[in-house]
Amino acid sequence: MQQIVIRYSEVGLKGNNRHWFENLLMRNIKAHLSALGGCQISKIHGRIILQIEGELQPVSTALQHIPGIANFSVTVAADHEIDTLAAESLALIRKYLESNRQTSATFKMIARRSDKSFPMNSMQLSAELGGRILEELPDLKVDLHHPQIEVGIEIWPKNRSILYLDKTPGQGGLPSGSAGKVLSLISGGIDSPVASWFMMKRGCTAVYLHFHSFPFVGEQSRQKVIDLVTHLSRYQPESTLLIVPFSDIQKEIKAKCSEKNRTILYRRMMYHIGERLRERYKALAFVTGEAVGQVASQTLENLNCTATVTTVPVLRPLIGMEKAEIINWAKKIGTYNISIQPFPDCCTVFQPRKPEIHGQVHSMEVDEAKLDVEQLSADTIENIEVLTFKTQIQEKFWT
Ligand code: ATP
Ligand code: MG
Repeated sequence: MQQIVIRYSEVGLKGNNRHWFENLLMRNIKAHLSALGGCQISKIHGRIILQIEGELQPVSTALQHIPGIANFSVTVAADHEIDTLAAESLALIRKYLESNRQTSATFKMIARRSDKSFPMNSMQLSAELGGRILEELPDLKVDLHHPQIEVGIEIWPKNRSILYLDKTPGQGGLPSGSAGKVLSLISGGIDSPVASWFMMKRGCTAVYLHFHSFPFVGEQSRQKVIDLVTHLSRYQPESTLLIVPFSDIQKEIKAKCSEKNRTILYRRMMYHIGERLRERYKALAFVTGEAVGQVASQTLENLNCTATVTTVPVLRPLIGMEKAEIINWAKKIGTYNISIQPFPDCCTVFQPRKPEIHGQVHSMEVDEAKLDVEQLSADTIENIEVLTFKTQIQEKFWT
């Protein structure tokens, strides 16, 4: 049995709602770890404590992906006895030296007490333990600024304490499900998976919406989006992907509307359909991977031509970012290598030779009036494919 102590970020600041946030985070952690050998989870003021039976590495990987966790440590549990604390600190340092094949190192003790009845303050405790360690291991040196080893000690109420060597960073942000649902427009590109992740980190539950132009684009494009959503299911306990057949609508737009408006009209139809799915999935906003000026189609005028279809917020977390920045995020969250596979997206179908860059809402509305938006949307919605992704529970997913 190993003990992991989890620290959470903004959840701690949520005033009266704090318990609700903590319980949600605990539920999410439990769901993510459900197939990793079982765990017991409890909380103590400001911390979540996890007791795990199985292997540490997959659990650690899973925890690093759960929004709401600031950081966590594998800990040793102890009481308030100064002799015990010294012995456990020493054992941790010895273990570090052994596994790094070192005989000397610089170190620092960082004590923190949430039980103010403990007879020493944090500084006194750090100094006392540091002194005792130097007596046992005289080759060690204290370095308060850049130590090789940091031993953390937290003194908790009720004669409990923990000791640890490392804090592994988590995702930060808020627990999945705390901010409501969003319909996340996901293509197979680099940007939209990153946009979805940004919103999940703010506590939103992403319901993914993908428009697919079979048979103009092949099965590989569909599989790419499934792979992206599978990967992103590391970040929320359960995901839904709606795959919407889009080629009939594109054919209709090609037949009836002006060539240069096509791409914008495609996008507007995505929102028309999204609007009709919003209630079914109780989504409060849309999310896209757009950034101003990134490609010719993403001018402010064009963004305006699509956003006016809907009355709910269209969230664009990447709006001010450069491509290089977005690529870095995509690499960090692990979607980049999937996104760069060269399979086309629906927007490339019947691509206009000279697409509109300064779209006018009025011109789009005139063109769109040639379509039976109601009927096209209704027919399309009947044929949506719904895929659900439970928390990825196979152990190898996390190894
Ligand atoms: P991405 O890298 O996300 O594909 P992009 O730079 O290729 O973005 P566009 O093709 O203009 O830009 O798409 C802008 C946004 O529209 C995407 O970020 C995504 O949110 C949405 N989108 C584009 N194609 C699709 C699609 N087939 N299904 C669902 N949403 C889409
Ligand atoms: Mg794209």
